[in-house]
Amino acid sequence: MDNIYTAFVDRVETHPNKAAVECDDGTAVTYRDLLEKSQRIASMLATAGVQPGDRVACQVQKSVRAVATYLAVLQIGGVYLPLNTAYTGAELQYFLDDAEPAAVVVDPAAASTVRDMRPTAALFTLDAAGNGTLSASDTRLTAVTPVGPGDPAAILYTSGTTGRSKGAVLTHENLASNCRALLEAWEFTETDRLIHALPIFHIHGLFVAINMSLTSGATLLWMDKFDVDGVVDRFTTATVLMGVPTFYTRLLASDRLTRSATANMRLFVSGSAPLLSADFDAFYDRTGHHILERYGMTETGMNTTNPYRGLRKAGSVGQPLPGVEVRVVEPHSGEALPAGQIGSIEVRGPNVFDRYWRNPEKTHEEKRDTGFFITGDQGFYDTDGYLHISGRSKDMIISGGYNVYPKEIEQLLDEHPAVVESAVIGVPHADLGEGVVAVVVTTNGRLPSEAELNDLLADQLARYKRPRAYRKVEHLPRNVMGKVQKAQLREQFATVLT
Ligand code: ATP
Ligand code: MG
Repeated sequence: MDNIYTAFVDRVETHPNKAAVECDDGTAVTYRDLLEKSQRIASMLATAGVQPGDRVACQVQKSVRAVATYLAVLQIGGVYLPLNTAYTGAELQYFLDDAEPAAVVVDPAAASTVRDMRPTAALFTLDAAGNGTLSASDTRLTAVTPVGPGDPAAILYTSGTTGRSKGAVLTHENLASNCRALLEAWEFTETDRLIHALPIFHIHGLFVAINMSLTSGATLLWMDKFDVDGVVDRFTTATVLMGVPTFYTRLLASDRLTRSATANMRLFVSGSAPLLSADFDAFYDRTGHHILERYGMTETGMNTTNPYRGLRKAGSVGQPLPGVEVRVVEPHSGEALPAGQIGSIEVRGPNVFDRYWRNPEKTHEEKRDTGFFITGDQGFYDTDGYLHISGRSKDMIISGGYNVYPKEIEQLLDEHPAVVESAVIGVPHADLGEGVVAVVVTTNGRLPSEAELNDLLADQLARYKRPRAYRKVEHLPRNVMGKVQKAQLREQFATVLT
């Protein structure tokens, strides 16, 4: 497979009448239907003047027509640019100014605002039901604009967890190579039926899930959004679920999650944020399935995965995908570190993005001349060659000159029976520069005494790593992909040690 779009068209040829998507309301969209829908959209975009290389920004609710729009943009050699539906006002203006799209597709309710924000772009509307000006064409464009492997297919903005979102320019080769590697690693085939409950503006729901399904001839079981009962209802006819860790936490809260309910399922995938080890274990106890955790990011697609066959380890993100190099290095020298030592995680391979959009300085800072991308994550390999993520470089705490990796402390705190989960952060401290603070969610809303928590950590952690204060919260702040917003916690607890 050299190109996602042509691989999809191949599947239309081999499986024209098979359901590409089964919708929430029970209707099926066949491979041929989906192709025709996308060809109509391609005709409208081309007529509006979208040229190869032009960006087409889409900020729309999840719908099959939104998937058809993605395919249409690939067909005409455009650059697909999905935007998080939560962005409004100044945020949205930033993305539109930065990306300078030739066409914008938005919900009808946002049309007049977006017209003012970007008057030069062709404007189309698409609502959650798939209606709007984008669905008006009777004409189909069948010609496919040829593209090279190095041509851009999409710009995806990062989640903005550690700062302002950056636009990652992804090539056709990036998407196709990663899709190929994942199909192989997870033994994903046309017989699969994938529960799709993720948003489609992010790499996980868009490229991992949709690319894999549509290029292999599988069927997407479409859900407009995640809900526990809807997912459990689909287990009997599905084979795979791709989720973020919060999906699994929420499934575990349902007594419908049982071994018999999941008997037809062959694979549960988790990623985008760390899966709690307790959830990994509990899910196995309840269902007999080991959740397969993998690690990736906007700039690279997927990098590592636990094995489909073989040991899946709790707390580990597995081993590099075929064709992808993942190394742990000392950040300044770039020297590879031995097993057990925490360092900076770097990635090289056909999956690694071309550049940050209109940001050569940032590209230069984060991509070494050797082609390795500095991910901004820290971690270590264990002696079995499995990678473990210790946190983000920006979340590492430097306390009195010592490096403190939050994950190590969080894992120990999470073992306390009254602790549901925790987030360890660094906040200003007069003597130490930064001091360690643990923010904890408890089972009963009461924080165990400081002495008790300190006792738990005393034998296992050097003194400089132990929290100097504990604070409880109802929930950890998370974004839609389940990522804990540590920057928000650092702000909230900024004065705890001063
Ligand atoms: P920004 O780059 O704007 O700060 P972001 O890094 O959160 O935002 P994404 O590209 O959506 O944006 O997320 C990638 C990050 O998600 C990875 O760098 C890593 O920190 C985290 N991540 C993904 N999968 C896992 C996983 N299985 N375990 C731990 N962390 C993960
Ligand atoms: Mg990032």
